[in-house]
Amino acid sequence: MTQAIDRLKQASTAAFTGLKCKECGAEYDATAKHVCDECFGPLEVKYDYDVLRQTVSRETIEAGPHSIWRYKPFLPVATETPIDVGTGMTPLVEAHRLARQLGLKKLYIKNDAVNMPTLSFKDRVVSVALTRARELGFSTVSCASTGNLANSTAAIAAHAGLDCCVFIPADLEAGKILGTLIYNPTLMAVKGNYDQVNRLCSEVANTQGWGFVNINLRPYYSEGSKTLGFEVAEQLGWQLPDHVVAPLASGSLFTKIYKGFQEFIETGLVEAKDVRFSGAQAEGCSPIASAYKEGRDFIAPVKPNTIAKSIAIGNPADGIYAVDIANKTNGTIESVTDAEIIEGMKLLAETEGIFTETAGGTTIATLKKLVEAGKIDPDEVTVAYITGNGLKTQEAVQGYIGEPLTIEPKLDSFERALERAHTLNRLEWQQVLV
Ligand SMILES: *Cc1c(COP(=O)(O)O)cnc(C)c1O
Ligand SMILES: [Zn+2]
Repeated sequence: MTQAIDRLKQASTAAFTGLKCKECGAEYDATAKHVCDECFGPLEVKYDYDVLRQTVSRETIEAGPHSIWRYKPFLPVATETPIDVGTGMTPLVEAHRLARQLGLKKLYIKNDAVNMPTLSFKDRVVSVALTRARELGFSTVSCASTGNLANSTAAIAAHAGLDCCVFIPADLEAGKILGTLIYNPTLMAVKGNYDQVNRLCSEVANTQGWGFVNINLRPYYSEGSKTLGFEVAEQLGWQLPDHVVAPLASGSLFTKIYKGFQEFIETGLVEAKDVRFSGAQAEGCSPIASAYKEGRDFIAPVKPNTIAKSIAIGNPADGIYAVDIANKTNGTIESVTDAEIIEGMKLLAETEGIFTETAGGTTIATLKKLVEAGKIDPDEVTVAYITGNGLKTQEAVQGYIGEPLTIEPKLDSFERALERAHTLNRLEWQQVLV
């Protein structure tokens, strides 16, 4: 084992070799660049898989830190000291009660509602992007955010001592705004939707020379999502599941879980398997689900109108690649209503004790819909990705959950209230039965 670690250290000059256009294959140096000069296609990080095969093993990974950085050879950073704030290695929980309720035999929840430091999967992509930003010499970092990305960028920039200016749509949930301001970045609340924020940020990226994690640093940023694939494979005992269900905003996360599984197969860390990929969107912003259902090979942008603000991207950059993966893996992409999203949040909380935000409600509601439609087989080992924390989107469930029973500090007051609670429960049950 120490031998294996020595080999890894020697090879730590990194296996990533540059950037490559996803459309035409043109190659570029690993700079802050995200669009191909030849065809305007998106750029992606390229690796030398021979180097990875020779230097990485299950043992070297298991001997690494308890964070996403145990997979550092698969990530686009050269440094020996990445920004490690304990991001990643979140629980993979077997969801017995939810599985029984839905009629599945083996269901797991990948719980990024408790990811560090800001309780969403975005901490993964930002840890990678800011580590690379530092390597490329940026002193100010920025992002166009639907909420969670602003939380993450502000927090991890604070930890790393980088200047930070982040952009959000002005109408975000209070928890997302407060959860950014506490780190004291410059916060621009733009009067417009995410797609307008993103367009503005593309212009700012050209004029300010800042590192925008999801614009000019996007090829590096998006690689961070592969760790959601790596961790599930490792936590299942170095095996892939049969079916995954994940939410879609830009579509990046979904495509990178797929890339993560492929890289583990390619380097011999897991046995090859055809994993089915199914995507979840909110009906009020479902351009990827629409393209999938209509069999289109282009995305028709929409204007978002949903409570699932963190995944409300009307013009998703990686939408078409997500459609492609759902098609070629025999998965599907489905959308659910805001009412179903709230029900999904409550269902996960009541069956598994996990309080997720609206994006997670979207995933659970979609999972339920797919099982009911026979699109997930009860025998499939299924993983549902929960990507954010419910304490950040409290507005969504206010008015849809119970209230506390207020009582006097006296035994008889308690006993009367308990009797009332039992009666209410009985009435609820009678309603269920009729
Ligand atoms: C950003 C986000 C997503 C999806 O991200 P993409 O990679 O853009 O598809 C999913 N869930 C939550 C909670 C998010 O914040
Ligand atoms: Zn190109």
